[in-house]
Amino acid sequence: LRIQVLDHGYVELVEAWGTGNAGVEEISMMNQEVEKPTDYECGIIEAARQSTQGSFRGWDQDAKLLGFLFNNRPPHATPFEFAGMVIEVRAPILVFREWHRHRTQSYNEMSARYAPLPALDYQPTVERCLTAGGHLTTNKQAQSVTGRSLKEKDAGEWLADLERLYAQVQAHYQLGLDIGLPKEIARCAMVVARYSQMRASASLRNWLAFLTLRMDSNAQWEIRQYANAVGQCIAETFPQTWKLFNHG
Ligand SMILES: Cc1cc2nc3c(=O)[nH]c(=O)nc-3n(C[C@H](O)[C@H](O)[C@H](O)COP(=O)(O)OP(=O)(O)OC[C@H]3O[C@@H](n4cnc5c(N)ncnc54)[C@H](O)[C@@H]3O)c2cc1C
Repeated sequence: LRIQVLDHGYVELVEAWGTGNAGVEEISMMNQEVEKPTDYECGIIEAARQSTQGSFRGWDQDAKLLGFLFNNRPPHATPFEFAGMVIEVRAPILVFREWHRHRTQSYNEMSARYAPLPALDYQPTVERCLTAGGHLTTNKQAQSVTGRSLKEKDAGEWLADLERLYAQVQAHYQLGLDIGLPKEIARCAMVVARYSQMRASASLRNWLAFLTLRMDSNAQWEIRQYANAVGQCIAETFPQTWKLFNHG
């Protein structure tokens, strides 16, 4: 599952866990018995049943238990740490600046010391610039400094200028690489709109905490698009928990 985000980014589900014992079936492949994951939420129930040394009983009985764990106040949250996923993300550095504040996820990001950064910069649309400016939004963090209403023509010209600036920065970066500068120095003028790439790993509990903060209308629009894509990965992989997250 790979979801395109912004102009050059994506979120891709790399792997998931949470099958426990019950969420796998034995299949025959090339004359060998292998385990195929069928349900990434059984492990949540099995973790919860450790308290009584019980096991998964089937969703007709255990959907109720899952709902209880999720909706109880305070929630029984630790069983949701027994499922999780690894995703790969390509996003502008400005999105990673916000994302990496979530200290309890695990990250590995491409290194601009060892590999040239991809020649991809995030180019916002005129529409995106207009929705952030003043009266079209109630999000205070997104309002303009002067309080002026942004005009479409001004936004278009500013964005055209931004594109020229990106080209100039890329030319400067490439020149540095071509004349033999270390990559870590050649990147000095790099813009925060430059795309970078990482893998992130977290438990289901942790992903939902991330989504609560980053799908919220107060979060910056760009990271919200990524949070929505993470939400799609969760919806496909952990459908029952996703339903509880959305509807209680
Ligand atoms: C809309 C929005 C605006 C923001 N604006 C700003 C801003 O202007 N400036 C800014 O710096 N940040 C800002 N942030 C980032 C925010 O302050 C958090 O750093 C970020 O959302 C990560 O949340 P977290 O700490 O819950 O996540 P994690 O770091 O993943 O932590 C998860 C949980 O673990 C526990 N935890 C982790 N570390 C500690 C610790 N050291 N001590 C105690 N408990 C811990 C807490 O319970 C925490 O909720 C903003 C975030 C949002 C969503």
